[in-house]
Amino acid sequence: ATPTSIMVGTGKSAETGILFKGGEHLERTHQLDAIIMDKTGTITKGKPEVTDFTGDTDTLRLLASAEKGSEHPLAEAIVAYATEQDVEMTEAEAFEAVPGQGIKAAIAGKEVLVGNRKLMNEHDVHVDADADMEGLEADGKTAMLIAVNGEHRGIVAVADTVKDTASEAIKQLHDQGLEVVMLTGDNERTAQAIARQVGIDQVIAQVLPEEKADKVKEVQMQDKKVAMVGDGINDAPALAVADIGIAIGTGTEVAIEAADVTILGGELLLIPKAIKASKATIRNIR
Ligand code: ADP
Ligand code: MG
Repeated sequence: ATPTSIMVGTGKSAETGILFKGGEHLERTHQLDAIIMDKTGTITKGKPEVTDFTGDTDTLRLLASAEKGSEHPLAEAIVAYATEQDVEMTEAEAFEAVPGQGIKAAIAGKEVLVGNRKLMNEHDVHVDADADMEGLEADGKTAMLIAVNGEHRGIVAVADTVKDTASEAIKQLHDQGLEVVMLTGDNERTAQAIARQVGIDQVIAQVLPEEKADKVKEVQMQDKKVAMVGDGINDAPALAVADIGIAIGTGTEVAIEAADVTILGGELLLIPKAIKASKATIRNIR
């Protein structure tokens, strides 16, 4: 291997927005068999908006007040929606994020729960909203249940749009002979709907943040070289475990630090481009 061709390769890649941390990562990228991609912020734009809300004004106030304590993109969408509707939010007396499930807050002496079915089950909240939830999820929306003092009070749904070039990038990866897998904490139905929009046929859903790295390892155990693409703090361990960790440049600093490559602006077309650059470099070496 000539150090010069690798230097030229990483330099050229950097000009197009593919930032390899070192030459060895450029060399390794051509060996990939599979690419695992996070959903929110990686395949989608990561700017979700509220599309549906059922519930009264009091429920909306409690919902937004509870979400004010959360840093999740879902929470930002809900708070923005309530702000647009001129809803007065109150400070929570207590707040707790339940990983992979939602949030729990005390507002004006009431216990407010917002999250998925699992959160409601674990708090013995009776919910009779299967048809509504399934309809929203089939549209690719993330639907969350709201309960106040143990009683189901409404649903809020949030949708995020897929990136304009996601389908084309995934098509090119498939053409390069790679397996493409979507990995998300979101529910199965929503994940499948988004995957279908961009041409991904393998989905691993309802994965807890701390389980993402294990999922990468499972694919590696099938004797495959795996790249992980992600933007979030919860993607960092998976990015580190992967043979090649690819961070979205618009994502969190923690993800960028854990990764081997960063793609500027989160442009997914840069991933097949990086693989092409790696192959070209290897050809020059051999
Ligand atoms: P993702 O991988 O899509 O970022 P997370 O693991 O962060 O997913 O969240 C999984 C699920 O937990 C969400 O789809 C949602 O149902 C619920 N959830 C997480 N954070 C919140 C929140 N702030 N408010 C309501 N529900 C939440
Ligand atoms: Mg993400």
